[in-house]
Amino acid sequence: MTAAAAIPNYIGGKWVPAETGDALDLRDPASGELLGRAPLSTREDVDHAVAAARAAFPAWRATPAVERARVLFRLKALLERDKEDLARSLTREHGKIVPEARGEIQRGIENVEHACGIPTLLMGETLEDIARGMDCETIRQPLGVFAVITPYNFPIMIPLWFWPYAVAAGNTVVLKPSEQDPLTHQRIVDLATEAGLPPGVLNVVHGARDAVTAILEHPDITGVSFVGASQTARFVYAKAAESGKRVQALGGAKNHMIVLPDADLEATTEAVVSSIYGSTGQRCLAGSIVVGVGDAYRPVRDRLLERARSLTLGHGLEDGVDMGPVISRPHRDRVVSYIGGGARDGATLALDGRDARVERYPEGHWIGPTVMEDVTPDMPAGREEIFGPVAGLARAGSLDDALELVHKNQYGNAISLFTTSGRAAREFRYRAGISMIGINVGVVAPMAFFPFGGSRGSFYGDLKAQGRDAIEFYTDKRVVISRW
Ligand code: NAD
Repeated sequence: MTAAAAIPNYIGGKWVPAETGDALDLRDPASGELLGRAPLSTREDVDHAVAAARAAFPAWRATPAVERARVLFRLKALLERDKEDLARSLTREHGKIVPEARGEIQRGIENVEHACGIPTLLMGETLEDIARGMDCETIRQPLGVFAVITPYNFPIMIPLWFWPYAVAAGNTVVLKPSEQDPLTHQRIVDLATEAGLPPGVLNVVHGARDAVTAILEHPDITGVSFVGASQTARFVYAKAAESGKRVQALGGAKNHMIVLPDADLEATTEAVVSSIYGSTGQRCLAGSIVVGVGDAYRPVRDRLLERARSLTLGHGLEDGVDMGPVISRPHRDRVVSYIGGGARDGATLALDGRDARVERYPEGHWIGPTVMEDVTPDMPAGREEIFGPVAGLARAGSLDDALELVHKNQYGNAISLFTTSGRAAREFRYRAGISMIGINVGVVAPMAFFPFGGSRGSFYGDLKAQGRDAIEFYTDKRVVISRW
């Protein structure tokens, strides 16, 4: 592939060009180097992919679960073999630093590992003699073609939250990855083929809004797994449900971190800093607002500022770099406008990253660590998802006050409390009302065997990603009642 060629779709086991000539440039967000082009596939491309997935379904469904699992075992080994190369490729196209990229790939591998347990995960239940001479059993059956639509911030891990479980359960898949960084996942498709995944079981269609709309309207797609901004998640949820599809749509976030005066300050500061500035703030689990309760405010603020000032920006492939760029120029502009808006609305800019530069990379989309004090829930910077390296600081008189502030927010993805009081922690867990809860943990990332997803404005649907929910989502529980 030359640098300027549009990357192909993957349909029915073959790499094929999209029907369209329209494509987006894919650039290294730190250096600006052109890495490839992502085609904006059309409805026809989606039709071809769905037809291939549909054709592959009967034979794949009839493949014993243990054989499907063996393909995934081989994929896991191949991912481990190529982990370092994949991580470096991910850093180039996304911008996150290599240790973060390695962590992302590892989380993806863990989902493949979990999906390898499919023979056990698929087991049903039986009850003999539900009435005299009658037995009842549930069996889990796959449903057909699922679509998986994913965001730019974890372009490897998030597809792997979904498609390995869908195919392990006997379904076939059309994946529409983010149009902003789809390159590294192309290599994972090759690894899946090398692992023995038959043609048509996993198909990839690149593109944006038109491809997504074609997927949502397609009568042969039975369900949709989606992750992205809440506005898109709401649209996907409503549109897919209109035609009776199953939908799980994970949206955005505004995560609060509450610090009580009795917290271990050293450990809390490290957790808060890595939560806010890790992945340059482009995580649905990123801490966004730090609420200092009573006397906790001042020392947390001082330590956070000191650590934020010490972070080094740069190209994620280079040593000694703590934070990479954000994904694109428009996204940088968006984050910058939240910082400016916050200042205009009355927040104090204790640390302003808007003018950050990295000399060797003048084309990079840089924003330095930013700290805003006196952020309130009524200002957009205190209310909306910024998705950049920006800490908002707020004060509260008590845990009650802090929770009241949190509950004014529309989102419900993650929340953390820092304390050494078991009683406060228990009270917090009971009343937090948010889906992913951290106690002395800043990035509340459930592992593959637990559900991942939020509530309120952060999630539309009921079954979440990963864990048992994934198996529920990708199968129907069929009940058989027999009398002989
Ligand atoms: P996005 O909503 O812009 O894009 C997500 C997907 O939807 C992409 O594949 C994109 O092509 C498609 N899309 C975008 N706009 C569309 C439209 N108008 N119509 C149809 N399809 C459309 O999200 P993003 O910027 O790629 O990702 C960042 C967002 O994802 C953040 O809000 C983040 O919080 C969220 N996210 C949530 C989780 C979670 O677990 N809840 C995890 C990761 C990211």
